[in-house]
Amino acid sequence: MSDQSTIRLKAGRDRSLRRHHPWIMSGSVDRVTGDPQPGDTVLVIDDANRPVALASYSPHSSIRARVWTFDIEQSIDDDFVANRVAAAAERRHRLGIANGDAVRLVFGEADGLPGLVVDRYGPVVVFQITTVGVDARRDAVVSALASLDGVECVYERSDGDNRSREGLEPRTGVRHGSLPADVWAREGDLRFHVDVEHGHKTGFYIDQRDSRRLVARHSRDRAVLNVFGYTGSFSVAAARGGAASITTIDSSGPALRLAEANARANNVDIGDLVEADAFTELRSLRDRRASFDLIVLDPPKLANNPNQVDRATRAYKDLNLLALKLLRPGGLLFTYSCSGAVSSDLFQKVVAGAAVDANREAHIVGRLGQPSDHPIPLHFPEAEYLKGLIVLTL
Ligand code: SAH
Repeated sequence: MSDQSTIRLKAGRDRSLRRHHPWIMSGSVDRVTGDPQPGDTVLVIDDANRPVALASYSPHSSIRARVWTFDIEQSIDDDFVANRVAAAAERRHRLGIANGDAVRLVFGEADGLPGLVVDRYGPVVVFQITTVGVDARRDAVVSALASLDGVECVYERSDGDNRSREGLEPRTGVRHGSLPADVWAREGDLRFHVDVEHGHKTGFYIDQRDSRRLVARHSRDRAVLNVFGYTGSFSVAAARGGAASITTIDSSGPALRLAEANARANNVDIGDLVEADAFTELRSLRDRRASFDLIVLDPPKLANNPNQVDRATRAYKDLNLLALKLLRPGGLLFTYSCSGAVSSDLFQKVVAGAAVDANREAHIVGRLGQPSDHPIPLHFPEAEYLKGLIVLTL
């Protein structure tokens, strides 16, 4: 331990760590000794020089270090990372997600691997690294993933914007095996094409699994509007659930073609595909006095950080107001925010404000969030990003 670099915390700044929150912010650091390099393991000590944790050092990030473990006797080596990956995969087995269904195998801090996300689509595993700590151990990550039962391809999608904050270049490509021509996200008896190389995130929004099931259940004989449709996953679910009609809006032509392909893959008809800006199209539908029984509003992340919350709030309000106006009495709105910076309280207030302005009375009849493979550690509430409300108009 003698040549171990250390980060000494300012007085009192060990408090969140004692509750096992895994981040050491730059402002909490009193002194760094031993010239650690990016991704090196450092011993974190409090202001009385008592050891607190082992962490990976990120000199370029305001999150200056991320905890690997609070057991300072452990060695942070390839085996450590491989064991964490295996433990995360093992936990998913026990969650009751059907075997073969698309699943998030590793969800960063929630699985003790800050900066690593792994999604599994049957035999294909896609990972994304966003921190120098995990980046330094990427070979161990790849071999741990390659050794999971039934895995034939390991693909790297380390191209998120947040990599540059850690001084990392984008990196993508096959790391083990070969990428099959068709990759499918399966979900019960539905299946969706996954564009592993170019799709959003790792190619599919696995995190809306529970919501797709609910939308299917409520779609029978209903006129459904799916706004921000992307892969058309909600439209396909609505069709399978027996919707009377479906309209899907997305500003991206390729996204709508993907939705069409997914409809074909599931032998369902998803009706109208509208390539348009959602804000403009919702206004136009309102002006044409269109109405629907069920609307899904699943916009992209509108606030990337706390500075963007005000602007995002106005956009959420606008969208929800328009959607509420388009709903018939007795209609259901499935409305979401995937912005971590927008709290669920704030989101509910925004939707409430939209109802007032739309002059509609409405009830929350359900709350939605991240599914079980995207867990929120009690000691790390920052893991929460997805929230949804099911709103019934009176
Ligand atoms: N509900 C989707 C995920 C939505 S991702 C699913 O189940 O997979 C967000 C989508 O919104 C993307 O497809 C993007 O093309 C689209 N988008 C972004 N801005 C938009 C806008 N202003 N109007 C319409 N679509 C938009």
